[in-house]
Amino acid sequence: MRNNIAIIYIVLICVLTVCAISAKRSRQKISNPVMLLCASLLVPVIGNFFIIISEDRTISKAGYYFYFTGVDFVMLSLMHFAKVYCKNGETKHKVPKSLYVLMTADLIQLTVNLFTEHAYDIDELEVEGMIYYNFTPRIGLTYHRIIVYAILACILAIFTVMTIKMPRVYKGRYAVILGTLLVVAAWQSVYVVARIPVNTSMIGYAFCGICFFYFSLIYRPHKFLDRMLTNIVEDMPEALYVFDPNKKCLWANEEGMRFADIDIQEFDLVNERLKNVFGEIRSNETNTQNRVIGSGNDTRYYNIETRVVNDDRNLTTGYVLSIRDTTEEQMRMKRDIYNAIHDSLTGLYTCEYLYERIDERLKNNISVKYLIVFLELKNFKIVNDLFSKSFGDHALQVVAEQIRTRLSDNCLYGRLAGVNFGILIPEDEFNAKEMDALLSNFIVSDGNFDYHILIHLGLYRVTGEDEDIQVMFDRAQLALTTIVDEFKNHIAYYNNELRQKMLWDQHISAQLSDAISERQLCPYLQPIVDTSGKAVGAEALVRWINPVDGFMPPGKFIPVFERNGMIVEVDRYMWRCACEILSRWQKEGIDKFISINISPKDFFIIDVASEITALVSEFAIDPEKLRIEITETVMMNNVDERMQVLSDLRSAGFIVEMDDFGSGYSSLNMLKDMPVDVLKIDMKFLSSTEDEVRSQKIIRNIIRLSTDLDIMSLTEGVETEEQFKMLAEMNCNMFQGYHFAKPMPVADFEEYLKKNG
Ligand code: C2E
Ligand code: CA
Ligand code: CA
Repeated sequence: MRNNIAIIYIVLICVLTVCAISAKRSRQKISNPVMLLCASLLVPVIGNFFIIISEDRTISKAGYYFYFTGVDFVMLSLMHFAKVYCKNGETKHKVPKSLYVLMTADLIQLTVNLFTEHAYDIDELEVEGMIYYNFTPRIGLTYHRIIVYAILACILAIFTVMTIKMPRVYKGRYAVILGTLLVVAAWQSVYVVARIPVNTSMIGYAFCGICFFYFSLIYRPHKFLDRMLTNIVEDMPEALYVFDPNKKCLWANEEGMRFADIDIQEFDLVNERLKNVFGEIRSNETNTQNRVIGSGNDTRYYNIETRVVNDDRNLTTGYVLSIRDTTEEQMRMKRDIYNAIHDSLTGLYTCEYLYERIDERLKNNISVKYLIVFLELKNFKIVNDLFSKSFGDHALQVVAEQIRTRLSDNCLYGRLAGVNFGILIPEDEFNAKEMDALLSNFIVSDGNFDYHILIHLGLYRVTGEDEDIQVMFDRAQLALTTIVDEFKNHIAYYNNELRQKMLWDQHISAQLSDAISERQLCPYLQPIVDTSGKAVGAEALVRWINPVDGFMPPGKFIPVFERNGMIVEVDRYMWRCACEILSRWQKEGIDKFISINISPKDFFIIDVASEITALVSEFAIDPEKLRIEITETVMMNNVDERMQVLSDLRSAGFIVEMDDFGSGYSSLNMLKDMPVDVLKIDMKFLSSTEDEVRSQKIIRNIIRLSTDLDIMSLTEGVETEEQFKMLAEMNCNMFQGYHFAKPMPVADFEEYLKKNG
């Protein structure tokens, strides 16, 4: 028997060694602990092997030493194994440090026992006619056993808890380890208690190592995987059906049964039920089909996928059919598409989509003549400010609704941005008269308020199918700038003249800054004379001597720069020129003033008073010599603020002149409040008046009024001796006009002064 057991031990030692080596080679997390466990199990097994085969006391003693210390190593690696095996997600278990201390103490005492024999002693025994050394336990071994059993109990407890706690599919993983441990522990205990002379408990140890190796590295729990997959498939939102090669339904998931309205035993009904809903479904090959069932609000969309399942010899083992209800998805997609091409407030097309549609329409209807309409709601900021944003939104919706209901299907329309709408309309469907009538009385009401919304239309005639849509709308919008009386006129066409004007505007605007730096702009001076006809000063008027376009009077460029704000550059330059001339005159003893023009736009863009004040101090000239001409339009906005600017200028010593008085909106009533020193009355504004007597009366009264208010009067546009005499007789103080001299270069003016100064 001893020999048989020895042979078994040799086999077990070999198997354990193979397990340890294979575990070392495996790359799983648990490999290392398994390798350690198998290696440590080798120690007590080899120890026992020697005890069994030897008849020598020393070898047996060494065998026991390896046996007991080996058990300690086994416990340590078992602990380590449990730690890694039971690692769950991020929770890590630690082996308490005190355990290592107790273990080390045990190892020391077992070593000391070699000399003291306080833990065990070995006695000679005859077994099967051979000497066998059995051990007699002493007090030291009790310590060893307590520690080993305590650790074993802990490990058993850990695996018991894990077996109970884990989800059903994973329970088995822990249960097999727990079972193995229990079997081995029982076996070992039997040996300890029964004191069988030849130790066979090592067979249990080796069995334990082999089992751990198998369960943690080799075994795949197919049953658990099956169960897991079934759970997943059961819970899937699609209806799933499995058919055998003869198209007999074998199984359906929960959704599949619900969809086919069957119970668990009624898989035979599946084919018929599906056929009722979808008709024939192509199922002999792997494919995907989309089906639409029902109509109107009950429309439902399905995605049907058939998969042929083949085995490894490529024989068909069955079919899987999955049916997914994609109605929600389809609806969401449709909604997204709608939202992408429709404006959320008005429900009309967005700008980008409108452009796309117009492009397509023009290309497909070459024979039809179309108009591009740019519709703008004017002064809309006031609507929003006066009422509320929601009223503003309401107004936009009303306009959109009108567009929608009044225009035929031959038109395309959308919201371009903010208060602008865009329309493509066949020319013969556009009735300008009707439209004008509609726009002149466009009322939006919210129940409490009625508000007249001012709407302007800019029109562009489409001339070719491949014109750029954006450019056409830009031109239609540009036409709006030609509307003069915004309350009377609502519709404007883009024409060639407008186009030329735009080109001209761009042409000269691009050149301005070079023109200034190259001094192509230069001041001309027109004399201003007193009653005796002697020059007292001059007005500085800009001229542009353009190297390409030649001599340009201000009428060709001033209005352009007034529109785009570049007038500021011109005026600043002219003011500086005037100051340069005055500064030189001051040195040369020429005691004349120069009037400079200030555009209404300047007041919007810069701080006029401080710029002019800075200039006179830079050139050290008397502010009285630089007269300032403003027009009454300056007083149309921010009256108080503008009055203040004029007062500031006057208190700084400047003389302020009101230019073109009477040609615009001014009322005589305003005159008394206006902080000006000179009234410049324009004769031209009277010249067209048929009733000359009446004109004279008006001028006479303006002059008289200015005298009463202590304001000097200056009449410009004096062309004849009679006019001069008459005005002098009316007590006008100063005169300017072709009768005396036309505007001229500075040098010519200085010559002129020699005769008329
Ligand atoms: P304005 O300020 O009313 O200047 C007087 C205009 O009347 C000048 O035209 C002048 O040449 C013209 N004029 C003078 N006497 C007579 C006359 O007896 N008969 C007629 N028919 N016309 C006469 P100009 O120089 O072409 O300037 C036109 C307008 O351009 C000016 O009107 C002024 O508004 C503007 N302007 C000229 N230079 C400047 C400037 O430097 N800055 C600004 N902001 N505007 C300027
Ligand atoms: Ca002027
Ligand atoms: Ca004038």
